[in-house]
Amino acid sequence: MIPGPIEFEPDVLQAMSMATTSHVAPDFIEVFGNSLELMREVWKAPKGQPFIVAGTGTLAMDMAITNLIEPADNVLVISSGYFGKRFQDILSRYGANTTILEAPVGEVVPIEDIEKALKNKPYKALTMTHVDTSTGVLIDPKPIAKLAKKYNVLSILDGVCSVAGETLQQEEWGIDVVLTASQKAVGVPPGLALLMASEKAIQVWQNRKTPVCNYYADWSNWLPIMKAYEARKPSYFGTPAVNLVVALETSLKIICNEGIDKRVKRHQKLASAFRKAIAALHLEILPKSNNIAANTLTAVFYPKGIDGTALRSKIASSNVIIAGGLLSEIKNDYFRIGHMGSVSVNDLLAVLGALERALIELEYPIANGESLQVFLQEL
Ligand code: PMP
Repeated sequence: MIPGPIEFEPDVLQAMSMATTSHVAPDFIEVFGNSLELMREVWKAPKGQPFIVAGTGTLAMDMAITNLIEPADNVLVISSGYFGKRFQDILSRYGANTTILEAPVGEVVPIEDIEKALKNKPYKALTMTHVDTSTGVLIDPKPIAKLAKKYNVLSILDGVCSVAGETLQQEEWGIDVVLTASQKAVGVPPGLALLMASEKAIQVWQNRKTPVCNYYADWSNWLPIMKAYEARKPSYFGTPAVNLVVALETSLKIICNEGIDKRVKRHQKLASAFRKAIAALHLEILPKSNNIAANTLTAVFYPKGIDGTALRSKIASSNVIIAGGLLSEIKNDYFRIGHMGSVSVNDLLAVLGALERALIELEYPIANGESLQVFLQEL
């Protein structure tokens, strides 16, 4: 129950275990082409250019920045946690001038502050994190993307902890890049960087004046490959992660069969009931209010007087694996529970049961079944 890698569907794992074919075998070309097409459905980006590349979410972030940003470009980084700041690290490496707007822990950057910054200086792009996995804070990318359009600034969204779990309409909202990694709500073991670029993003990349400073991530190498697979033609730049791509097609089909809107609603319903159950235990979540709390994970403060390591180890003894804190300044003050992908009511019942038992053993004053009752009532 950690926020990635998540628990994977048996069909996805089975697809992964097939005999590895050539990356230009006709069957595999079909699978790759299908996966690219299915990505457009999940991202809601019918005119978008999808990329599937072996690597992690950080590679997808790197790919967006290295292709779109040139040295000395101004970029506005909007951060609500650890992963927001990672964009600043990447941008600095490629010689961009960054301005960071950092939300206090558990909060989002106010839209007025974003507009003020955009008014103050001409920016080439802005970056934002849909769900920062370190804080469990969810932002609303729609008004930010609208502002980016108004000021003619490219918008880049880290959707690693949101794509296929949170509401997203890339094209309607006008976001230029939405990127993710396979191991989260997309539901495939770690190893794939997934990215969708808008037509404008591709144009900006085509019109750049300096070469892309990263050989592996350069779209000049990958765009022809993506286009070839979609045209069902063989091609090669770097050997694709064949088995992971087969698993990706299976998972994207599962997602699209459930229906992306229905799937997001399932995440919202489970997350909302889970937060109520957490509140019933008098525990506090990191996000300052429920309307900025992610539906893919919940970050919860340890109650006063309870040792976090002891609590987590007691929960683990009930065979429930949760994650500790990530944000360095409060790392030991909270824990995180992932609830994305194929997560079910039963998974969260198991978490709440293990959490209650652990708390009671540590003499935290709650009655047996308190959160379980609230959770089930809410559902
Ligand atoms: N962004 C967010 C929001 C993440 O949660 C993560 C991974 N937890 C990353 C970026 C980086 O992804 P990866 O670990 O796959 O490189």
